[in-house]
Amino acid sequence: MIVQVVRTAAELREASARLLAERQGRSQGLVPTMGALHEGHARLARTAVEQNDVVVATIFVNPLQFGDAVDLDRYPRTLEADVALLEEQGVDLVFAPSVDEVYPGGEPLVRVTAGSLGEKWEGASRPGHFDGALTVVAKLLHYGIPGAGLPAAGAFATGARAGLPAYRAYFGQKDAQQLALVRRMVSDLNFPVEIVAVPTVRSAEGLALSSRNRFLSDQEREAALVLSRALRLLEDRANAHEPLDLDSAHALVASQPLVDLDYFDVVDPRTLEPLAENCRSVPFRGEGLALIAAKVGPVRLIDNVPLSS
Ligand code: AMP
Repeated sequence: MIVQVVRTAAELREASARLLAERQGRSQGLVPTMGALHEGHARLARTAVEQNDVVVATIFVNPLQFGDAVDLDRYPRTLEADVALLEEQGVDLVFAPSVDEVYPGGEPLVRVTAGSLGEKWEGASRPGHFDGALTVVAKLLHYGIPGAGLPAAGAFATGARAGLPAYRAYFGQKDAQQLALVRRMVSDLNFPVEIVAVPTVRSAEGLALSSRNRFLSDQEREAALVLSRALRLLEDRANAHEPLDLDSAHALVASQPLVDLDYFDVVDPRTLEPLAENCRSVPFRGEGLALIAAKVGPVRLIDNVPLSS
């Protein structure tokens, strides 16, 4: 199957409606990305292909979520390779709109705000980032509504969705705060879509794959491994039903001089509030999420592991 690249919302609606009709499809999956794709994105796409009759991937570097124009300018753009990778996974449609297509009147007046959940952790060092990210995710989730171009679209507008295809959207566990916020947005604002989380894909050494890893020198890449090692330390403790030894994990990170730690804590996976101090002294029970962020050379890296015991 050859992937089809579309540039406008109208083309996307037409193409997805045609594919759904041809296949008598009962489900559509959406995989939002910013491009510069790697095996992590490929896993999202493959999961979507396994679970849906029609799959749309989007490639859009969203200016609204970059605080820094330099960071936006240097974000890697590799459309041709991205399309080839998505085709290999079996994706049907790639929606790669221009900034003008997504924001025809310039920056939108009305936006989604992430609230207090968007102000902690990543949000604390990137003010406004999650408002911008959620605003574009809201738009992308709307562009990708299956059947919007079918005659049955009227049924959607009147609220009668029965008989329309199922709609799922795929997000990586790698961006745990984004995932928690997307889930909250979908629940708080009644978006008609199921959010599917996909586990983090790592290099053989454990480094979480990221489009920004290409900016690491060999030495920095080696140093960055301490992040996943520290997370694994906590994961091993949780799996062994032991107290989480956050102090040793912090000491491990501090032993690596090239790593400038921003935050490292264990939180509730839904609210992202730090877990009670006693998870350090009594055997760990329940659900948690260990979050870490650090600057390694010029690159800000984030990683996390879900804890369950
Ligand atoms: P991005 O292009 O960086 O905005 O990421 C697009 C999607 O891919 C997001 O849902 C990310 O969480 C997900 N993603 C990025 N890196 C990974 C990874 N290493 N493993 C799994 N998913 C990832």
